[in-house]
Amino acid sequence: MDAEVAVIGLGTMGSMAMWQLARRGVSVLGFEQFGIGHDQSAAGGESRLFRTAYFEGAEYVPLLQEAFSQWRELEQESGFNLLTINGGLMIGDPESDFIKSVMNSIQMHQLDHEVLDEKAAKEHFPQHRLLPGEVMVLDKQAGFLRPELSVLAAVQSAEKLGATVQKHAQVQEIIPDEHGVNIKANDAYYRVKKVIITAGPWTGTLLPELQKQLTVQRLVMTWYPILTEKKFDIDQFPTFIRMSRDITFFGAPTLDGSMVKVALGTFYGQVDDASALDRSVDVQSLQKVNCAVSQLMSGLHPAPSRVSAYMDAYTPDNDAIVGIHPQFNNTVVLGGFSGHGFKMAPIFGQIAADLATTGKTDYPIDHLSLARFL
Ligand SMILES: Cc1cc2nc3c(=O)[nH]c(=O)nc-3n(C[C@H](O)[C@H](O)[C@H](O)COP(=O)(O)OP(=O)(O)OC[C@H]3O[C@@H](n4cnc5c(N)ncnc54)[C@H](O)[C@@H]3O)c2cc1C
Repeated sequence: MDAEVAVIGLGTMGSMAMWQLARRGVSVLGFEQFGIGHDQSAAGGESRLFRTAYFEGAEYVPLLQEAFSQWRELEQESGFNLLTINGGLMIGDPESDFIKSVMNSIQMHQLDHEVLDEKAAKEHFPQHRLLPGEVMVLDKQAGFLRPELSVLAAVQSAEKLGATVQKHAQVQEIIPDEHGVNIKANDAYYRVKKVIITAGPWTGTLLPELQKQLTVQRLVMTWYPILTEKKFDIDQFPTFIRMSRDITFFGAPTLDGSMVKVALGTFYGQVDDASALDRSVDVQSLQKVNCAVSQLMSGLHPAPSRVSAYMDAYTPDNDAIVGIHPQFNNTVVLGGFSGHGFKMAPIFGQIAADLATTGKTDYPIDHLSLARFL
């Protein structure tokens, strides 16, 4: 045996699974087809929003609270600064499903927050031009994560604890049998007891039985130059999600002092082959977000200075796939995080480690089972 557990794909979830296994003293071997902390798939683009008042469902709040502690533990172990809590503004119509769901999470879990009516919002956060009647809800346990650094931090911390990493090693075949799993990577063979597959947009390539259920979508991030000084620094400009008129957009404060990330929460086309992601973005595709920036924000130049394309795997119900493969009990699969998995990654790493070592977990993951699709 080359290790007890192999992790295929050391991006967001794989890096965290490896770290959590290494912390438990399990021997672990990780494979990554690119370098560690690359930006070729779902974990690129400088920042990821962290939120606790979750409009996607109040049931996620305890997981998010636990994820917060785990991020702090990873920071301590790695020495990297990964999570900045500078608040998160949820902006929209108070009667919209979006704001109602945010308030529901807040009320059910008594989360620290502030509601700003139109007048107060304009006074405190003039960077946003509010529409009549819109409000802001400030989630105080929100902010942003540094994605590339987070992956690097988890992998390095795992390595310090004895994990082995194969970088630039593309896994070509995974062959489970009764007693273990054979893995072929860069034309060499490895043998382990259990395997965790965390291949993100490539999950359907490694597990063709899931190909139909996992759609890979292209997402484009845009950064706009700052025209007014200082209004977009971390301490003045909380992260935000805004659902106004017919668009959803979100953003994070400036990290370099010259531009602010503001991006649309829409897809820019389906990706048929994750290895051939089209990273070019035409001007027409940017018009909607340029329009939102010029009409709904103040102090930004209305054309981006930086544009980058990324991708993530989506399931039909936008809930991830997490569990033991129904046909191979030595294979754990995590995929389809549907555009909102990053903030909870250390918890999914715990779940992967639980499943690979004990075959079960105390976390509530029944709704994420593979069986619902296979
Ligand atoms: C632009 C964008 C913005 C987002 N914003 C947010 C946000 O604000 N907050 C939030 O919580 N979530 C956000 N998400 C979602 C979140 O980033 C993803 O859900 C999460 O990163 C998915 O992690 P993953 O491990 O499944 O995939 P990845 O991080 O892509 O990891 C998969 C890894 O597997 C490797 N791999 C694949 N095949 C092989 C192979 N055969 N051999 C070896 N290695 C292989 C890949 O190279 C990659 O490193 C966003 C996603 C995108 C794309």
